[in-house]
Amino acid sequence: MHSPQEEPCPICKKEVFEWGKFRNVLYTKDQSSWLKDNFSFGNKTKVRRCLSCENIQIFLE
Ligand SMILES: [Zn+2]
Repeated sequence: MHSPQEEPCPICKKEVFEWGKFRNVLYTKDQSSWLKDNFSFGNKTKVRRCLSCENIQIFLE
């Protein structure tokens, strides 16, 4: 199956990326209760930064 992580940048269609991770990022849904709907992801993320337009895409591993 073709991985979305191998797709070109959705913004500028280029394919030159830098890969990294977020550390200790806390994600919270808009208009959600803090206790119920937040979770953190750090080690489970792969972050793809487009070197052409600086768009960032986050993938969970
Ligand atoms: Zn781009």
